[in-house]
Amino acid sequence: MLELSTPVQYVKGIGPRLAEILGAKGVYTVGDLLHYLPFRYEDRLNPRGIAELRAGEMATVIAEVRTSGLFRTRRMPIFQMTAGQGRNRLKCLWFNGGYLRDRFKPGQMVALYGKVEADRSGELQIMQPQFEILGDSGDDGGTDAADQKLAASLEVGRIVPIYESAGQGRLTARWFRRIIRAALDNMPSDLPDPIPAAVRARMALIPPQEALWKVHWPEAGESFTDLQSARTPAHLRLIFEELFFVELGLELKRRQMKAQTGIPFQPNERVRESIKKILPFHPTAAQKRVLKEIVADMEKPCPMRRLLQGDVGSGKTIVAFEAAILAIENGYQVALMAPTEILAQQHYFSARRILENAGYRIVLLTGSLEQDRKRDIRRHIAQGNAHLVIGTHALLEETVEFAKLGLVIVDEQHRFGVMQRLKLMKKSMEEAPLEIESAKGNGTTGAISTSAKKASGETPEPDVLVMTATPIPRTLALTLYGDLDVSVLDELPPGRTPIVTRRVSDERSDEVWDFVRKQIAAGHQAYVVYPVIQENEENELKAAIKMYKELSNKIFADLKVGLLHGKLDSDLKEHVMRLFQQGELNILVATTVIEVGVDVPHATVMVIEHAERFGLSQLHQLRGRIGRGAAKSFCILMTGGKVSEEGERRLDTMVRTSDGFQIAETDLELRGPGEFFGTKQAGMPSFLVANLIRDRQILEVAKREAAAVMAGPNAEISEDEIKRAVRHMRARWQHTYGLVEVG
Ligand code: ADP
Ligand code: MG
Repeated sequence: MLELSTPVQYVKGIGPRLAEILGAKGVYTVGDLLHYLPFRYEDRLNPRGIAELRAGEMATVIAEVRTSGLFRTRRMPIFQMTAGQGRNRLKCLWFNGGYLRDRFKPGQMVALYGKVEADRSGELQIMQPQFEILGDSGDDGGTDAADQKLAASLEVGRIVPIYESAGQGRLTARWFRRIIRAALDNMPSDLPDPIPAAVRARMALIPPQEALWKVHWPEAGESFTDLQSARTPAHLRLIFEELFFVELGLELKRRQMKAQTGIPFQPNERVRESIKKILPFHPTAAQKRVLKEIVADMEKPCPMRRLLQGDVGSGKTIVAFEAAILAIENGYQVALMAPTEILAQQHYFSARRILENAGYRIVLLTGSLEQDRKRDIRRHIAQGNAHLVIGTHALLEETVEFAKLGLVIVDEQHRFGVMQRLKLMKKSMEEAPLEIESAKGNGTTGAISTSAKKASGETPEPDVLVMTATPIPRTLALTLYGDLDVSVLDELPPGRTPIVTRRVSDERSDEVWDFVRKQIAAGHQAYVVYPVIQENEENELKAAIKMYKELSNKIFADLKVGLLHGKLDSDLKEHVMRLFQQGELNILVATTVIEVGVDVPHATVMVIEHAERFGLSQLHQLRGRIGRGAAKSFCILMTGGKVSEEGERRLDTMVRTSDGFQIAETDLELRGPGEFFGTKQAGMPSFLVANLIRDRQILEVAKREAAAVMAGPNAEISEDEIKRAVRHMRARWQHTYGLVEVG
């Protein structure tokens, strides 16, 4: 008998070598294997006869191989296989299909799946069909007769699951079918359901075992549409389960944090006065609301864990400074971290401009400072002389010790890896045993608490405010940052005129430069941005530098042009940035180092060369650098050469809208959640079953149900059930999602 937790190598037919291949797919245990779901199904119960096919439909055809061969066209080799049923024939074509040369043998039965079309002479064909050779046991070892019979029965005359192959095609869909079937056959029949009964009932969930069987081997009557869209009861059960346990984990983490001792900051009259004094403008309604939410958190005796989302230019910095004043006036130090040195420097300058008059001492600590200087600054910090410490992630280094750290602000969180975020919150993340307080009429009736409360006398946990300009659709924010409370700055400061965005071919660069010149004559400044994207960094950087020379020596020889890129040393970067900020430079030629946060209100033009090569979020961030003053601003997206379809959609979206949330949605759609968040970087769990875009609604419900369970035992949910669910959740998180650092 197999258990869900049995290592996958013990399933008959797998063994250590293949287990390794599966491991690379995130499949380690029998449970993982059973959650390796088909990505689609084929209706081989009712395969189509060739004679009844129509152009335009998607169809499964089971037919016999007649002839096959490779022929060359001027452009590429094409592989053609003709399959037949009696007298009817169907042509199948694969571009660059040389690899198929020895694949088909006349007389074999094949299952073909794809879009039927008519060729020029009206004959039907399928281009690039998915195919499977039936009863060809050569590639996966099942040799004895009984095996073959079973294999055949799994492949025709039913709805057949199609799995993504693994190990460069070594583990085929057929292989998965057989192995998963064997695993299912060897499961104990009484698989316990880790989801509490009340939740199961409310959600009308079918039992886990039934769900696993039906998702792999759907019954003949199952709706084919529901199967393909993962909406059968079996799918819904598995998706809900996965999301439920993720949300349970986040909820637990959140409760552990809330159970810790924080600092109850006092927002007294003096604090209010100080804040009023520093404000250079009237805050927007959104800024007021968000500040209220932050202050309410900071007043509480448990640590704040809040995410502040606000589109580029929405004015997050001043809100951060206000929170800083609250902490400083209460006698604590504040750390403000930015993802790049340039940003850290910029915050440093504006902090000095805005806060230094009030007598706060501000220091800048970045990686590139001289050792001596760093040591000095660290000493200041350790002695409590510095009130506000601004830096890059160098602040996370162990050697930086604060005398009395009360508030940590992380700017542009999306740029930080989650590891850094975790490191920052490390103390509060330590695994805490789960305790369920029984009803004793002590006010916390039935609530779950953790024993993480620090003994009195120990230092309390600082508050943490995380800021991001990546507008994350709400449901996704709940998952990615489910352990944080979320505030949204959904209003831009007044007096901004919308940015005009245009797309221009680089053949018309002369006109573009003329336009830039006119804007500068009118007293404005301009950015010209070049892509430097990792893979080709050296060459690209050379291109940016070359263009800088061209622009500064020829095209704008009479103007002051500066150059900014990531490889410059930080003094120089700082110098260039300051010159531009002070209006000493007319034009700043730059790479994406200016992408985040840089604030120069007089800059009204941004020319982005090779705009097709930037990601959508990147373009949006870049464009956010302009339109920060009262004058009308222009973003010119220059493209050269051929633009891919996806590139077209990106540029299109940029021209059409400036709404960060809409742009994020499109970006998410184009790239998928993994890429969007940079899975590894962002620490996004990679789901086995759920798809965050498709299953958003289920995610919402799962979150609600998880919160209900974590609220503690009651008439519906017993203590034992909660404990079982939490144990299951921990096991799942540890290995399936690989989030070992999550308690
Ligand atoms: P981001 O949210 O992108 O970090 P910033 O904090 O850099 O935005 O603010 C963008 C610009 O808007 C800055 O020049 C800032 O001084 C200005 N700003 C912020 N809040 C207001 C306000 N309430 N009224 C006028 N200008 C504001
Ligand atoms: Mg900012």
